[in-house]
Amino acid sequence: MSLALTNGRILRESGFTEGECVLIENGRILDVVAPSDPRCRSAVRRDLGGALLLPGFIDSQVNGGGGVLFNDAPDVEAIRAIGRAHRRFGTTAFMPTLISADLEVVARAIEAVRAALLARVPGVLGIHIEGPFLNVARKGVHDPAKLRELDASALGLLTSLRGGRTLVTLAPEMTTPDLIEQLVAAGVVVSAGHTNASYAEMRVALDHGLSGFTHLFNAMSQLTGREPGAVGAALDDPSSWCGIIVDGAHTDPVVLRIALRCKSHDRFMLVTDAMPGVGTDNGSFELQGRRITVRGYACFDEDGRLAGSNIDMASCVRNAVTLLGLSLPEAVRMASQWPAEFLGLAHELGRIARGYRANLVLADEGLNVLETWIDGRDSGETV
Ligand SMILES: [Zn+2]
Repeated sequence: MSLALTNGRILRESGFTEGECVLIENGRILDVVAPSDPRCRSAVRRDLGGALLLPGFIDSQVNGGGGVLFNDAPDVEAIRAIGRAHRRFGTTAFMPTLISADLEVVARAIEAVRAALLARVPGVLGIHIEGPFLNVARKGVHDPAKLRELDASALGLLTSLRGGRTLVTLAPEMTTPDLIEQLVAAGVVVSAGHTNASYAEMRVALDHGLSGFTHLFNAMSQLTGREPGAVGAALDDPSSWCGIIVDGAHTDPVVLRIALRCKSHDRFMLVTDAMPGVGTDNGSFELQGRRITVRGYACFDEDGRLAGSNIDMASCVRNAVTLLGLSLPEAVRMASQWPAEFLGLAHELGRIARGYRANLVLADEGLNVLETWIDGRDSGETV
């Protein structure tokens, strides 16, 4: 039986449209048609009451949520709990993100994601392995004892997930251009982060297939007058994607607005970098033995260092409008279409169009999420 979502304001390529009906069948968008279309009349109809129908949000960097930290419990139930916590805020696809850990833990996390994909845990796309191949000089809250160089011995591990996407955040100076190229050739998306690379080193990595910058401006060599650094490389390179955390704490909105003037907006994507507090009232949590305190949208360790965020994706989209001056369609695309492109999933995710997976968000004008669909199933059916 197909489902017809009628009377919504649908975000399409041209902007918001009214008077169209989204037809869903077998988890896919069958078509977007006029309500008079005979296929619409024979479907189960659902009146959206004029609310906004958006492509589901895609979060490529999410460490936790619902009181769960992926690092603490790299298993299927943790992934399910994190997905459930973020779904309430419009995230319909996500990459559970593992912070630098021993390689046995990385292996366990990959196994957990593989099992979650097989179990069809709603929304899980693959894994984001953030470290341990990072530069201690830009470690942020990553445990320096875990950080290491990437050599050929870890290639098998990093390419071992089948059936989902693998994203690896690494410091290019902690490996070789050749290994970056081998990872990319094996289908891994490689992003630079926690890096002290020079502009020249970063340029070489980009030329060998590196295609992203993890939490732009944070934990990377900065743009200065005589050395553009990783930030300069990110803003100068027209093709790569930049993850941005629009929580008002990780990066000043002025700095992000300047960044947005440097390259095409379709190369920016919103990420939450969320910690376990999202979806809870918890004021603190433990990260690898350290106490982390939640203050507003941000998390801090005992030394006042940023330790991920406490923001959900709907709030990121809202902030992208209010703090960065983007239009709502642009902000939504930064949370849907552009991350789908970055992850190589633009053929099936990130748009409300014929043939796409029916991952959708229903929201009011204030971007409060009213309902979500993942592969055509609404939150009531799957959560
Ligand atoms: Zn990080």
